[in-house]
Amino acid sequence: MTTCHLKANDSLQEGKHPVPRKHSIDLAGIVSHVTLIEFDNQLRADEVLQPKLRSLNNVTIITSAMTTEVLGDGSKVNGLIYKDRNTDENISVEPEGVFVQIGLIPNTEFLKKTLELTPRGEIVVDSRGETPIPGIFAAGEVATAPYKQIIIAMGSGANASLGAFDYLIRNSFEGDTAETA
Ligand SMILES: Cc1cc2nc3c(=O)[nH]c(=O)nc-3n(C[C@H](O)[C@H](O)[C@H](O)COP(=O)(O)OP(=O)(O)OC[C@H]3O[C@@H](n4cnc5c(N)ncnc54)[C@H](O)[C@@H]3O)c2cc1C
Repeated sequence: MTTCHLKANDSLQEGKHPVPRKHSIDLAGIVSHVTLIEFDNQLRADEVLQPKLRSLNNVTIITSAMTTEVLGDGSKVNGLIYKDRNTDENISVEPEGVFVQIGLIPNTEFLKKTLELTPRGEIVVDSRGETPIPGIFAAGEVATAPYKQIIIAMGSGANASLGAFDYLIRNSFEGDTAETA
């Protein structure tokens, strides 16, 4: 039997992001059991994903749980201990895998006063990867994109590069063109 435990991390425990729930749903389709361990006393986030998650009979949701230890035998994970935040009791479970969901907070604090950011701090770009400030482009996970995966970030990089190239050829000065020619 494969048992997976998916743990939400601090930034997600604050509850505004649906990703750990989404990942739990994904996992539940390929393993026999998923345990979602949530630090907060409730799951927040997506109103569509939550009922879906709760409808899956191979998913257990544990809230108010602070993971304190992940145990292993030297080659693989074989245990996890969490503290029940209501009772202070330490409880151990025996997963065969642990997925730590790391937060998705973009490092864009320094751009706050320069570029338009979403409430989550992503740089707002259009379909060419251009920000509302002409000639400034952003790509990858730091920019607005619903899914954060390597292949998407790569495509976004290619897209923004083409957008930037297009911007440059349309905005080059006459003098530049003459010199180049
Ligand atoms: C634990 C974990 C597991 C993952 N697993 C998968 C997976 O299995 N499959 C998958 O497709 N995706 C996975 N991802 C997502 C994947 O890592 C990202 O989608 C991808 O790395 C995004 O690429 P990026 O170039 O946009 O950003 P990053 O790879 O984060 O690169 C951003 C770079 O910018 C640098 N940087 C940050 N701030 C500044 C600054 N102010 N000035 C200059 N440089 C700066 C950073 O140091 C970093 O090198 C995972 C992510 C995590 C955290």
